[in-house]
Amino acid sequence: MYKFFISFLRQLENNIFPGRCSVCHHAGPAICPACRASINRLPISCPLCGQASARGLICSECADGNNLSFDGLIAYASYEDAKLKSALHALKFQGTVDIGLLLGKMLGRRLLSIWPREESERPLLIPLPLHPRRKRERGYNQAQLIAAGVAAVTGWPLQGDALKRTRYQAPSSSLGYRHRQQQDKIFVYEGENINNQTVILIDDIITTGETASTAAQALKNGGAGTVVVATIARAG
Ligand SMILES: [Zn+2]
Ligand SMILES: [Zn+2]
Repeated sequence: MYKFFISFLRQLENNIFPGRCSVCHHAGPAICPACRASINRLPISCPLCGQASARGLICSECADGNNLSFDGLIAYASYEDAKLKSALHALKFQGTVDIGLLLGKMLGRRLLSIWPREESERPLLIPLPLHPRRKRERGYNQAQLIAAGVAAVTGWPLQGDALKRTRYQAPSSSLGYRHRQQQDKIFVYEGENINNQTVILIDDIITTGETASTAAQALKNGGAGTVVVATIARAG
């Protein structure tokens, strides 16, 4: 099913060109090569202290005393990067499939460049799901598009529908303490046992990491070994 989905998206992408760059508005792909090259990529480092760390894993010094359920973070660039910000804005509000795929391919190349080549190290790609109600409102899940782009360049397996969101997440400012507590269980993994495999959990933007951490915990309950979060942008 997913292979079909990816080839469908590829075809769609090819048919869309020539379009316009969502950043500089010149004719070309959804993000033109010049704009792509001018986005400053973040170094691969411990997400908590910033010291160099393979695969963006939380370093041993930071591993004690943090309450995150994921083990590492790879973010392509900072949300403060103006060009990346306008591409993400276009993805969110114009909903164009080709921007999501292209951003996913950029992230995929970044991941490939730092990931071991051994077959046994192939991670499983899982997009962070939107709640069904929000997906109906928006019509698509941008994390799923990004994950399809990552899968297209890496060839890594993608599991798109086993991690589910069970409750509608209202903007957190409108929630009281009790409701915030209820959000603790908003993800559930319903696929086959992941069997200690490494999972790359994919989303568009990471801010505090709270949501990704809750999702990572659900994946670990489902048998995941290491969970590395990979996002297009890191905010804050
Ligand atoms: Zn451009
Ligand atoms: Zn650290």
